[in-house]
Amino acid sequence: RLEIRNLCRSFGGRRVVDDVSLKIMPGQVTCLLGPSGCGKSTTLRVVAGVDRQDEGAVLVDGKPISEGALHVPPEERGIGLMFQDFALFPHLDVARNVGFGLKGPRAEIRARVETLLDKVGMRRHIDRFPHELSGGEQQRVALARALAPSPRIMLMDEPFSGLDDRLRDDIRDETLAVLKAEGTAVLLVTHEPAEAMRMADEIALMRDGRVVQHGAPYNIYNAPRDREAAAFFSDIN
Ligand code: ATP
Ligand code: MG
Repeated sequence: RLEIRNLCRSFGGRRVVDDVSLKIMPGQVTCLLGPSGCGKSTTLRVVAGVDRQDEGAVLVDGKPISEGALHVPPEERGIGLMFQDFALFPHLDVARNVGFGLKGPRAEIRARVETLLDKVGMRRHIDRFPHELSGGEQQRVALARALAPSPRIMLMDEPFSGLDDRLRDDIRDETLAVLKAEGTAVLLVTHEPAEAMRMADEIALMRDGRVVQHGAPYNIYNAPRDREAAAFFSDIN
């Protein structure tokens, strides 16, 4: 369970994240949806621990990981990351890329890697290197790698951009199925309303650093709080 409480972050005197609060339960997907520059990635970076808040707190299962001077380092947060500019290690094959952060007996790591590659449909490419894979295939491997340590929380920042439509739909659906099956709490950033409608249990509509509306996708779609929110959804059909 991920909780974000009254989070604020400023750059040069401008609040780009302004009093954001969210709660995400295991197996739930919350989409942060909003126009470019509204503060989505900054919010994710603070939650991931690669940036620090000015005010507010981030809690996992009720325990603060960012609050005041307390700052748990990113690698100790148990939070998986999948960002748009994911990069596989070019000199490692698929098996080693996915198993990279895992500890334990080699046979166990291998079994875990094979299971994950099965889930993302990439088992047959286990011995390939990144440059031998298409962009979409690399993205699947990146997803398997992000899932490898079984994070209870996953942060995804536009992870499906740069794919053609059909492939994107496939990878989205697979990703969602895997995350739901593992009971992961997901915070997914997108600026595409259609993606949020498809993936989210809850949507948090963000504008100028603030969450201006929060709720189930169809509630927001059917009852946008103002004309600007409505306009944002108007290009879906
Ligand atoms: P996009 O959809 O384009 O990715 P976003 O919602 O993710 O946008 P952020 O990356 O969170 O937006 O940026 C929010 C605002 O904060 C932007 O105006 C950006 O220029 C500014 N900003 C982000 N990081 C910094 C930084 N390190 N220093 C100064 N300003 C920053
Ligand atoms: Mg961004």
